[in-house]
Amino acid sequence: MKYVSTRDTSASPVEVFAAEAIKKGLAPDRGLYMPTSIPSLTEENISALCALHYEMRACEILSMFLTDYDKEKLLADCTEAYSDSRFPGGAAPVVHIGDEIYSLELWHGPTCAFKDMALQIMPRLLSSALKMTGEEKKAHILVATSGDTGKAALEGYRDIDGIDITVFFPVDGVSTMQKMQMTTQEGENVNVCAVYGNFDDAQNGVKAIFADNALAEKALERGFFFSSANSINWGRLAPQIVYYISAYCDLVNEKKIAMGDKINVCVPTGNFGNIFAGYIAKTMGLPIDKMICASNANCVLTEFIRTGTYDRRRTFYKTMSPSMDILISSNLERLLYLLGGAETTKDCMQKLSEDGVYTAPEALMEKIRETFYGYSCNEEETAKVIADTFKDRGYLADPHTCVAIGSLLKYRNDTGDCTPCVVASTASPYKFSKDVCISLGTPVDSDEPAVILDTLEKVSATVAPAPLTDTLTKAVRFTDVCDPADMADYIFSK
Ligand SMILES: *Cc1c(COP(=O)(O)O)cnc(C)c1O
Repeated sequence: MKYVSTRDTSASPVEVFAAEAIKKGLAPDRGLYMPTSIPSLTEENISALCALHYEMRACEILSMFLTDYDKEKLLADCTEAYSDSRFPGGAAPVVHIGDEIYSLELWHGPTCAFKDMALQIMPRLLSSALKMTGEEKKAHILVATSGDTGKAALEGYRDIDGIDITVFFPVDGVSTMQKMQMTTQEGENVNVCAVYGNFDDAQNGVKAIFADNALAEKALERGFFFSSANSINWGRLAPQIVYYISAYCDLVNEKKIAMGDKINVCVPTGNFGNIFAGYIAKTMGLPIDKMICASNANCVLTEFIRTGTYDRRRTFYKTMSPSMDILISSNLERLLYLLGGAETTKDCMQKLSEDGVYTAPEALMEKIRETFYGYSCNEEETAKVIADTFKDRGYLADPHTCVAIGSLLKYRNDTGDCTPCVVASTASPYKFSKDVCISLGTPVDSDEPAVILDTLEKVSATVAPAPLTDTLTKAVRFTDVCDPADMADYIFSK
């Protein structure tokens, strides 16, 4: 299987193998890599997958896309990535929360959020890609984080062969828990440094390093090159296709649905990566009917699906579902390409970068609306869903997940379509304990992680996940702080 750029409009687009696409991340024309065809999944294939454990399902599905990878190595990598020790609650369990709503819990990994599903395997795919392409230099992953991605990347890349990682976080821009998670990080190839300023200062610092040719030269002389852990990399997207197929298999195994029955899927969406992976599963042949794209107050996607106009020139809201506080949903580009072709994609992306707005052709929007429905929940609605879901369904869910549940209920109310629905649950409620406590009517008068976790445990009569409670007792390994202008010096000093 080969990959092409979403913006390559030439008659015969440049094709690369998966290893190359994963090593590069972004195509040279700044488009995203997409497979030239989507492999198909028959009912027999799905039945065969039903009999397998998650890591073997992952290996089977990934090998359909990563045809240049050695399948034995892929199975070894999947087995390590999704082992019980890393995902003690199972890699992606499905929990019925009533009314044929199934919560697909993607947060049983080392950082208690769904980024682990991709970031536990992606570093291994990159490490293999470096070997397969004969790369002699080491990759040095640079991340600027507003909290969660940094920790998930650190956990994913720790002690991976041929790769080092440095994470920068804004000194005053992360929660106490997030800071503790990062500064206590274990692993021989990791570095963590606070940066004076806010997230944008840290982010701009990283971007400046990526854009600096002299620094790239200097790095090569020292035997490495800079690389990113960005969510537009195909190596992060492909592993996310797996859990939709896995969820379908689990529903069949548990006799909640019969093989061939249609399901709906509802996904709390920021960058459009997670939901797009579900769409690929549908395109492969998984019986998914409608997909509900759920947004918080930053409802740029809801508006796009409804009107055809994508307009990022709007007020940016900080919400209690911060991982969806996004105005540029990068992976939407892949959907435009798949349904509208490279010409349309290139045109829309150019308008987005020049004018901050584009309107997709109506024919393309019709295709999108055959599957996608856009709904959003504001802060007040989300808080109510957190409380109702706990009181009425006995299910404690995080704010991101509740944006999705609330959106699904609106969709059902509007359309009357009550097809069994898989809702992607993207974070442990304990990751957002303070907002969850407030929503449940028990404000916490402290910023101490231990106090906050304890309060939620008492209020909900549930137990906080071990990776979060363990953090409270781990030794701090990193205390460095630097100015944004000194970030490159920091890397070279290590
Ligand atoms: C990243 C993230 C999302 C959004 O996923 P996208 O792939 O960016 O759409 C939703 N919820 C949580 C908890 C996340 O970390």
